[in-house]
Amino acid sequence: MTGGAAVTPRPDHTALFAHRSEEFRPSPVRAVFEIAMRPGIISLAGGNPDMSVLPHDVVAAMAARILAERGTEVLQYGSGAGVERLPGLVVELMRLQGTETAPDTIQITAGSQAGLDLVTKLFCDPGDVVVAEGPTYVGALSVFGSYEVEIAHVDVDEDGLDPEAVAERIDGLRAAGRRVKFVYTVPNFSNPTGVTTTEERRRRLVEVCAERGVLILEDDPYALLGFDRAHRLPSLYSLDPGTVIHLGSFSKIFSPGLRVGWIAAAPAVRARLQIAAEAVTIHPSVLGQELAAEYVGSEHWRPALDRAVERYRSRCAAMMAALEQEMPEGVRWTRPAGGFFTWLDLDPALGHGDLLGRAVEHGVVLVPGGACYADGRASASLRLAYSATSEEDITEGVRRVGEMLRR
Ligand code: PMP
Repeated sequence: MTGGAAVTPRPDHTALFAHRSEEFRPSPVRAVFEIAMRPGIISLAGGNPDMSVLPHDVVAAMAARILAERGTEVLQYGSGAGVERLPGLVVELMRLQGTETAPDTIQITAGSQAGLDLVTKLFCDPGDVVVAEGPTYVGALSVFGSYEVEIAHVDVDEDGLDPEAVAERIDGLRAAGRRVKFVYTVPNFSNPTGVTTTEERRRRLVEVCAERGVLILEDDPYALLGFDRAHRLPSLYSLDPGTVIHLGSFSKIFSPGLRVGWIAAAPAVRARLQIAAEAVTIHPSVLGQELAAEYVGSEHWRPALDRAVERYRSRCAAMMAALEQEMPEGVRWTRPAGGFFTWLDLDPALGHGDLLGRAVEHGVVLVPGGACYADGRASASLRLAYSATSEEDITEGVRRVGEMLRR
């Protein structure tokens, strides 16, 4: 680069953007990233896992050994199906969640976000409809929108998604001539509500979808993050692997930076997903996959995960106590049994206007609930994350939210 070169005028190509680009949504968490970095601001926005509980020296030694012993192999192109031992390890992980499946159902992906993208790409044409929880994971809205898929929300309550309401919605859409491809749900400790779908509803949900020939896309990155290990509900996939496609991830149980996750699907579907994936990433990082396999397959993984879950449990308890203490009349919130989030429903008199702007004025960042609906509606609701914030900051952050709501 030469210092004083004349600046060439840059043509504006934004008018050439594809129609679908209008549906690309910035993550509400990444959008507040810079604000969250300001001194004195407390972030209850990002649902990041806590990386400080990892045995970093162990992970570093594993990475060094993989490179030293198999550098030529792991730095080379790999297989689109994933590194050889990973599908088998994923089968074991799913068994820990109470789900039996075989390695030929497992497609390794660059995180479950990529899994969401691939499944939507494989099944959805523009104008197709996906039924999704209302509110739902904002990253899924972005994927559905970018394939020009219409999203039909079905409201969730404290027991999750109501299967009868889903059935009614599918039937109504079909009667209006619409094609419904799948129901998207986060059944365990949902992002954004923290709600878990009850076992009864799970069983009925797979029934109503199977009867109608509609798939279920089960997004389950928090499966192993329940506060009570003894209490685990059957995955939708375990109830009907023919109707359900399951998304899993190493992000919340090891590292989101490595970008490794998986899809469990019927072998014929899995094979098509692999071809779709090869067209985008060819395959996820071989080194990342090898490190995930090595670490999660080692005796170090489970104790560190247990420490992390214990930390999320006490942070959640701190948030519940602070909400009890600080929230004015007219605020209701969910009581998560695991995961990273709670959801606040606000009386409209409290939850008006630009909720993020009001929060920032009070020194706290959060996700306004409206971001979790396809139409970005003005929803009097908030998502608060407790996973990556100290108990002290949670208490102070919730106090600030209370102050903002009362103002
Ligand atoms: N689905 C849900 C419900 C999530 O909460 C997240 C992460 N915030 C993702 C998918 C994406 O996770 P990954 O890092 O595995 O791509």
